[in-house]
Amino acid sequence: QRVKIRAQAVNLYYGTFQALRNVTMDIQECAITAIIGPSGCGKSTLLRLFNRMNDLIPGVRVEGKILLDSVPIYEKNTDVAALKKRVGMVFQKPNIFPMSVYDNIVFGPRHHGIKRTAELEGIMERSLRQVALWEEVKDNLKKPAFDLSPGQQQRLCIARALAVEPEVILMDESCSALDPESTMKIEELMHNLAQSYTIVIVTHNMEQAARVSDMTAFMMMEPDRAGVLVEYAPTSQ
Ligand code: ADP
Ligand code: ADP
Repeated sequence: QRVKIRAQAVNLYYGTFQALRNVTMDIQECAITAIIGPSGCGKSTLLRLFNRMNDLIPGVRVEGKILLDSVPIYEKNTDVAALKKRVGMVFQKPNIFPMSVYDNIVFGPRHHGIKRTAELEGIMERSLRQVALWEEVKDNLKKPAFDLSPGQQQRLCIARALAVEPEVILMDESCSALDPESTMKIEELMHNLAQSYTIVIVTHNMEQAARVSDMTAFMMMEPDRAGVLVEYAPTSQ
């Protein structure tokens, strides 16, 4: 299987605090990789490395190498905008915008310069179908996205990530604020999406990791609280 993301000897510091120590892992293309471990061990920090989300935090320093295909993610000349288009992110709480369902979905494509209404509508329908939301919302596309249920809102966030045609989707505890039924729907989606996308999830739920992932990365904290990868192996079902 092909490697999509390769992290080599990565250290990450928040100021003087080292949050990740010597993390090396290859993430397989078109598979689901789950990162698990105790609270505070650096799971979110590791996930956010893959699309440079951590750039938003002042005082962050990254050492080591991270490649997306053969493109270095942390180099001076990295095209960060292009990187963020290729690597989408879904958070724990559905972070929908205070706009209509339609405007939420076409936000990214518009930002990337797509203007024709017909094209935007095509992207919207495709993305909503990818998350099995089209039938549920097609008559309410101009209504506020806040009217949707939490589970629908989270699927909308996944659709919004898909709308810019990423290659990788990062999901940070994306089911942990949802009821079991919505969680099940999203797990099913992940399975389908993994045929064409590389998916990396953070979860504190071992059962979820066992249900959905192909590979599991176990993290722990060293005595100084730095996060380390202690095991990385095919998920045992
Ligand atoms: P997890 O996702 O496993 O709960 P995090 O990646 O959120 O862990 O956090 C790892 C460690 O880094 C924790 O000790 C946390 O307090 C610290 N940390 C996270 N974000 C910041 C930040 N912006 N500034 C300083 N420390 C941070
Ligand atoms: P979660 O565990 O749900 O990811 P947290 O409550 O750990 O969220 O963190 C929320 C925000 O606060 C994140 O942006 C994280 O980077 C930041 N943060 C976490 N720990 C610290 C810390 N020790 N110092 C500064 N910022 C932190």
